[in-house]
Amino acid sequence: MCYRQLQCIEFACGHKEPFTESKVDCNLRECRYSSVHVRPCIACSTTCLQMLGRAQPTVAQRKESLCRHCQQA
Ligand SMILES: [Zn+2]
Ligand SMILES: [Zn+2]
Ligand SMILES: [Zn+2]
Repeated sequence: MCYRQLQCIEFACGHKEPFTESKVDCNLRECRYSSVHVRPCIACSTTCLQMLGRAQPTVAQRKESLCRHCQQA
């Protein structure tokens, strides 16, 4: 199934903040969210996956500073 991938910045305090997200395609025709899913799909709700997977955070950048919340504290 497809899922969203969150690109996060990791701060020195260990907190992560997402700054962009993208969809990772599973390339299954039986998946409603896939780019190869055929539309219109007649019995989509019975034949196809209707769910997006959990968002997967990945650390794309690291910062030596504290995050916004920790700077305020
Ligand atoms: Zn999918
Ligand atoms: Zn379908
Ligand atoms: Zn923090």
